[in-house]
Formats: sequence, C-alpha cells, structure tokens
Amino acid sequence: MKLIFEQNVPGRQGFKLPESDVPVNASLDSKYLRQDAARFPEVSELDVVRHFTRLSRLNFSLDANIYPLGSCTMKYNPKFTEKAAGMPGFADLHPLLPQLKGGERYVQGALEVLYDTERWLGEITGMKAFTLQPLAGAHGELTGIMLMAAYHKARGNNKKYIIIPDSAHGTNPASAAVAGYQIISVPSDKKGGMDIAKLKAVLTDEVAGLMMTCPDTHGVFNSSISEISRLIHAVDGLMYYDGANLNATLGRCRPGDVGFDLVHLNLHKTFATPHGGGGPGSGPVGVTARLEKFLPVSRVVKRADGSFALDYDRPDSIGYIASFYGNFGIILRAYAYMLLLGGDGLKATSDHAVLNANYLMHRLKKNYQVAFDRICMHECLFSASRQTALGVHAIDIAKCLIDQGIHPPTVYFPLTVKEAIMVEPTETESRETLDLFVDAMIEADALARTNPAAFHDFPRTMPISRPDETKAAREMNVNFFAPTA
Ligand SMILES: *Cc1c(COP(=O)(O)O)cnc(C)c1O
Repeated sequence: MKLIFEQNVPGRQGFKLPESDVPVNASLDSKYLRQDAARFPEVSELDVVRHFTRLSRLNFSLDANIYPLGSCTMKYNPKFTEKAAGMPGFADLHPLLPQLKGGERYVQGALEVLYDTERWLGEITGMKAFTLQPLAGAHGELTGIMLMAAYHKARGNNKKYIIIPDSAHGTNPASAAVAGYQIISVPSDKKGGMDIAKLKAVLTDEVAGLMMTCPDTHGVFNSSISEISRLIHAVDGLMYYDGANLNATLGRCRPGDVGFDLVHLNLHKTFATPHGGGGPGSGPVGVTARLEKFLPVSRVVKRADGSFALDYDRPDSIGYIASFYGNFGIILRAYAYMLLLGGDGLKATSDHAVLNANYLMHRLKKNYQVAFDRICMHECLFSASRQTALGVHAIDIAKCLIDQGIHPPTVYFPLTVKEAIMVEPTETESRETLDLFVDAMIEADALARTNPAAFHDFPRTMPISRPDETKAAREMNVNFFAPTA
C-alpha cells in the first residue's frame, strides 16, 4: 500500500522508484520485468475510504440486519472472538515455526489452543478424538468418509455403498462419491424422518456406512437414530453424523451417545465465525476410539511434563488432508467463543435457537404452509405452495424481503419440499427482530393476495435485481461496481 500512495500523490505522476528499491529477481528473464512503474489509479485517501465504504454498504451483513438463511446458522459473532483471533501472539506466528529446530517452544500457546479445542469438541459430541484440520464442512465429510474407508480396508471389508437420506445437504453424496463410494438414497417418510422400511430394503453387507444430519435439513429431529444405528452396525457399517446443524442440539444431545462413530462440526456455523461467500471455514472431525489411529497427521500431543508437541509418527493415518494445522484463525475464534459462553452458555445457545425457530413457525403458520406440522428444531420449513397458487413463488417472496432490508431465507432447499422456504433465525435475534421478520413475511403474503404482479419487480433497492445466478457464478464480473471514469 505504501508504494501505491508514494507513486500517486498528485504532482508526482510518472514518479519512478530509485533502482535500489525495486526488488528484482535476478533469475527472471528481463522480458518478464516491468520497464516502468506500475500504473495505479490516482486516488486520495478520502477517495479510497469512500470507495470501500460504498462497497461495504452493498454487502449485506449480519451487523446490519437479520440473516435467516436456513441451513447456514448465520448467527451474530461476538467481536470478542475477532479480538482473540487478532492477538499478535497468535496472528503473527509462522506456520512453519513448530517444525523448526527449537521452534516448538514459541508455539506452546497455539498448540494448547488446538489441544483444548479438540478435547472440548470431544466432550460436546461424545467423541474420543478430533482432528481440527478440515477446512470446511464438506472437507470434514470427505475426511470422515476417508477414515471410514481406512477402517474397512484395515478389517478386510469389501464395501461399496454409503446410504444417505434424500433430505441430505448436497455435499454428503458429493463427499462420499469423491471418496470412491456409490450412493444409495433413502426417501423420507411423511413426518420428515428416514423411512425405516425403505432403509432395511437396501441394507446389505456391502454398505460401508450411513451419513445422517440430525436434526436434518427438514429441521426435524430423527427419533429413530438408535434403531438406524443398530441396523447399520449389524452389517459392520459406520454411522456418520453431519454436525452442521449442531446449533440445535449443542449441550443437549451428544452424537456419540446415540450410536454415531464419526462426526464433523462446522465451527463457522455453530461456533461463531463470520462466513458466507465461500469461506473461510473449519470442519473438525471427531471419531470414536476404534477410528482414532486413522486420523490425519499431524496430531497435537501433550507430553508428561505438560508441554505440547506435534506428532507425525502415525503409521495408520490417512495422511495429510490440509496444509499445516487447519484454519487456525477460525479454530481460535471457536476456542474464544467456547470460553466466553462456558458450558451453560453453549446449552442456552441451542435452547434459544430452537425456541426462536418455533416462535417463527407458530406465528407464520396461518399465512404459510408448514412442511411438517410438528415441533421444529433450530430452523423451520415452509412451502410457498399457497402463494404459488396465486402466481407468487418462493423466489418472489425472497426478493420481496430484500427490499425490506432482510436477507432472504433459503429457498428451494431441501429439494424434498416444493417451493421450500427454510428459515433459521438463530439464537442471537431478539423478539423484536423476529417480529419484524414475521411482519415482513405476513405483508408479502397479503401482497400476494392483492397484487401478485407487483412481485415481478422485486427487489427495487438493489443495483442488480434478478441475475441469472448460474451464469453469474460461472462468469463472474468482479469489476461490475468499479467506477467507469
Ligand atoms: C453447511 C452444511 C454443510 C457443508 O458445509 P460447508 O462448510 O459449506 O462445506 C454440510 N451439511 C449441512 C447439513 C450443512 O448445513
């Protein structure tokens, strides 16, 4: 940044850096070297401030308004966790330090954070050991399925299939397929849970395991887990718990106690890390004792003298799945979050998350069709089927909410429910904010009855209204907002 401003102060256009200040790599062919100073835009500090402030306003943020995006747990992230992650003693560490001779003593604090986080997550989930390395939920799934494969290989099992309910997050079948398995999809029953009869029908000795989200993406807690788990274990299969929805059960129910062998958690959902737009994330994987030896390297260990070290000597390990030790900044935020809330605070988190979702479901029930009419967990699932009959679809309601300053809920997911609208308020929203959301939804329903055509123009307040989202993702134009002068 310093160079940019030095070169561009008014009156110093064309200013060339003294030769000695330009870092020239002698091994680079001269035809690749720049002959003139780089041309940066001519801007004052004020212009820069305004540019970024303007951009930040275009970016929807939880710091400004409710973000009830189902399946994403967009909760408020306490600023305290940001402070912890920014502490120079952590932030300035070089990731190679632990491997340098004598470097270990400089990273004892960081290793202790990793060690304690693993233990605390183990306590929360009822798992024997954790790896903090996976860099996202999907990466945790892949790691988990690779651990499953290592387990079966070591036992000489010939397994081909992973069973996944049809309500699962799309990453589940993708991860299982990348790890080399074929997918068997099992349909949901009328109450939103897994259809046990259909599960029994596909169960054979070639089943490696079952991936399950609980509560699932219907926002429903599956009360047949113990039975499902017994069925899977009977064919020497393993139970995989997709813990991305842990915000519903944190401190209330431990996957390890109900028969799961592996879990992944999304620290960036349940444990308060800013996320969205693709990252950064952290998807730690926990396992029961019989799978521990397969965990990725390195492992943090505590020596008899109380000091911490990294252990790479793990002959049965599936190997490296990420560089260094995972997304350390995210792990640090989760650590700070757990310290901040304590055991009772974490328990209160899921209590309030579930209460808030049920409050929304109850208040919106008259206006919107509920997908499953039963107590929901941390998110509630509606269908815009009544509004669709009037020509207004889930996407139209979502776009209408944008003009109210509200981030839309998730729409058209899960795929098992037509015109799905999936609302996850999280525990950090107040009663007042929930009521504002309810009012906006009720208003949208009223408008659908009186003037359905109005919906075609929403949103009216955004620079882009209704992009072709697939095209926008594939042919991204990041210069769209750049000043054209
Ligand atoms: C978010 C989510 C995932 C994937 O997590 P990423 O960090 O986005 O890869 C998997 N399963 C469920 C149920 C989720 O909600």
